[in-house]
Amino acid sequence: MSGPDIVIVGSGIGGATLAAGLAPSGRRILILERGERLADSPEARDPEAIFARGHFRPDEDWLDAEGRAFNPGNYYVVGGNSKLYGAVLMRFRAEDFAPRRHLGGTTPGWPFGYDELEPFYAAAERLYRVRGAVGQDPTDPPRSGPYPFAPVPDEADIAALRARLSAGGLHPASLPLGVDLARWLSRGATPWDAFPDTCGGKMDAETAALAEALRHPNVTLRTGARVRRLIADGAGRIAALELDGPRGPERIAAPIVVLAAGAVQTAALLLGSADGAHPRGLANRSDQVGRNFMNHNASAVIALHPLRRNRAVYQKTLQINDFYNGGGPGGAPLGNVQLLGKISGPILAATTGLPRALAHWIAARSVDFYAMSEDLPDPASRVTLRDGRIVLDWKRSNWAAHEALVARLRGALRRAGYPVVLSRAFDRRTPSHQCGTARMGHDPRTSVVDPTGRSHDHPNLWIADASVLPTSAAVNPSLTIAALALRTAARIGTGEVAA
Ligand SMILES: Cc1cc2nc3c(=O)[nH]c(=O)nc-3n(C[C@H](O)[C@H](O)[C@H](O)COP(=O)(O)OP(=O)(O)OC[C@H]3O[C@@H](n4cnc5c(N)ncnc54)[C@H](O)[C@@H]3O)c2cc1C
Repeated sequence: MSGPDIVIVGSGIGGATLAAGLAPSGRRILILERGERLADSPEARDPEAIFARGHFRPDEDWLDAEGRAFNPGNYYVVGGNSKLYGAVLMRFRAEDFAPRRHLGGTTPGWPFGYDELEPFYAAAERLYRVRGAVGQDPTDPPRSGPYPFAPVPDEADIAALRARLSAGGLHPASLPLGVDLARWLSRGATPWDAFPDTCGGKMDAETAALAEALRHPNVTLRTGARVRRLIADGAGRIAALELDGPRGPERIAAPIVVLAAGAVQTAALLLGSADGAHPRGLANRSDQVGRNFMNHNASAVIALHPLRRNRAVYQKTLQINDFYNGGGPGGAPLGNVQLLGKISGPILAATTGLPRALAHWIAARSVDFYAMSEDLPDPASRVTLRDGRIVLDWKRSNWAAHEALVARLRGALRRAGYPVVLSRAFDRRTPSHQCGTARMGHDPRTSVVDPTGRSHDHPNLWIADASVLPTSAAVNPSLTIAALALRTAARIGTGEVAA
């Protein structure tokens, strides 16, 4: 049997969406995924197992800048991190594509504007069956059509929260979500945010994009296949991939190679593939591979009225963008606020160390928010390798904007009738929104891939995951990763830029 036409490394949002976009071309597509399909288990809906015992966390350590090992919240299964995601599938705002002045500096802007990506956002929303509402959020970018489905409904206590926030002059809006609510709840009455999807209730990379790709006989998924290295030939083409398979090391070659291993692992693969002709690693003439690592500044913000219970099960249906395009000193943008999946007693106890009884008392009353601000690209914020191990030296940026966002949110929540508001920043071991480590751009001296996702250095190498994002905005990344992957698929599939 002849080999594949296209090899894709990784079956996360980027890789699986790319495969779905390329599948109708009829080309033989092989997806190599280091993980396995996530099987259902009692732990899948057990908050103790997930948050206290880290049941689903990888058996892997990375190093921080000081050389201390930590266990990252980065998931290696079919579907990648999206198996545990909050299923918020949201477009970047139109303003995010242009250079933006933040309290912490000015972003570079994208090589194209929002209008270029709009048709791909629309296609990604169809693929992921996004549920949302038009006309509630003043920061929404222009759309060519409505959402495919009506929004996931607020639970009663969240509908009351929405009314209270609106009365305070804010513009709460339904979160765009990829969730089949009935299906999710039929497996157990829990939130979906940070819980693994083993029932198909979330529209994630496996259930939405990969399932669509695998309907085509020309698409094959190989699990348990960890790619270790890319090999370039004398002409600069990627000649083969070396991988660990079930029968040991092997080599696979294809005319087109696409990396979609996630922002940290894609950078690590390129850096770890250094050879005599490419001493800094492959695709790295610019020395930008691994740099500009971004991850959002994020805090959990808990609002509480001692006499008011919150009976929500899933909670995560609402967002506030009133501070997104302004709200900071001098009108600086501050970021997005959205509900977290409902924090229960076990989750609060596990993540804060509070005594169980107190954690249960708080969680029965709290409304739980996620405040998220833009992290700006910084070449010194980077992924490197030390003796083959991943070193993640994340330099947070724009922190003043995040503090201002949390302060604005605190004030708004107090005015909305919550006398107690507590907040806590997410720590460095949670690289959930990792991006930027192989950024796209026109200039081969300052970017790793061109605006279609193709390596400036290797004509048959493409990247289609969160690595290519030039900026992080203050929006959950998945829909943008998916839209970019569909755009890359269109370019590869039509042979518009033949490899
Ligand atoms: C708890 C949590 C909640 C989140 N909530 C949201 C949300 O609500 N909305 C949102 O937009 N985003 C959310 N995110 C972020 C979102 O999940 C990621 O941005 C997105 O999944 C990244 O997709 P990716 O394709 O870039 O990479 P990944 O998801 O990392 O996929 C990479 C894939 O490649 C595989 N792989 C890695 N290395 C190799 C190798 N060497 N060989 C073969 N295979 C390899 C991995 O196993 C994985 O399957 C959340 C993340 C987490 C962890």
